[in-house]
Amino acid sequence: TPLISCRDLTKVYRMGTQDVYALRGVNVDFVQGEMTAIMGPSGSGKSTLMNLIGALDVPTSGELLIKGRPLSRLSRDELADLRNETIGFVFQQFNLLNRATALANVKLPLMYARTPVADPMARARECLEMVGLGARMDHRPMQLSGGQQQRVAIARALAGRPSILLADEPTGALDTKTSEEIMDLLTGLSSEGITVVLVTHEPEVAAYATRQIHFRDGQIERDERRAS
Ligand code: ADP
Ligand code: ADP
Repeated sequence: TPLISCRDLTKVYRMGTQDVYALRGVNVDFVQGEMTAIMGPSGSGKSTLMNLIGALDVPTSGELLIKGRPLSRLSRDELADLRNETIGFVFQQFNLLNRATALANVKLPLMYARTPVADPMARARECLEMVGLGARMDHRPMQLSGGQQQRVAIARALAGRPSILLADEPTGALDTKTSEEIMDLLTGLSSEGITVVLVTHEPEVAAYATRQIHFRDGQIERDERRAS
């Protein structure tokens, strides 16, 4: 079974009297360890798809299955558990707590998880070391470069041992060289078995992925795989 399965996903936003079709019957599967770049013009439905896969929003119709489990059948608590245990999120603007150290940024979500981690401090340290920030754990975001801040965000996303990493324009705020470093890091994670789905406007960034899906008007226009 695919890790993520989208079946005829449709999302309609009601704007007053008008219906905005963000997704129009999207069918797509993602297998374990695959690294996919989602591309397409602004407004084509990329973020909407990410929000649905991340269980942050529900489709108007269609079904999303993660590890074969239809999300529509999960309770609110089960959905929260799924977000905590299966999915990691990375954003363009890092979304770090500015007053907290790198270590605290990674540790805090572990401490507030519904299923507590045995030793949040040890796990946070381990994750920061994994992303190459072992020597910067006590720095606050303002004392770190953009690339280092994104590494903290990736460490935070990895702390719950997710099988899926969703990244919405992870290099959008970074220069070319730093973007390459972040993409190398994400590529490494996918070769370790994490399923990576990222949104990007940059072909150079998308080239790191083994699969590129192009959206247009809420539908998949092109879906191309290359040998990894
Ligand atoms: P993309 O990420 O490709 O830029 P989005 O998924 O953000 O596209 O948006 C797809 C369409 O849905 C756009 O027309 C957008 O304006 C609309 N849309 C997205 N989110 C909302 C929302 N919360 N309310 C109303 N319309 C939305
Ligand atoms: P992106 O860079 O991903 O295209 P946007 O600026 O389009 O982001 O959207 C930012 C947020 O606003 C998203 O969470 C999206 O769902 C929401 N959004 C997008 N379009 C609309 C809209 N027309 N009305 C309300 N919310 C929207």
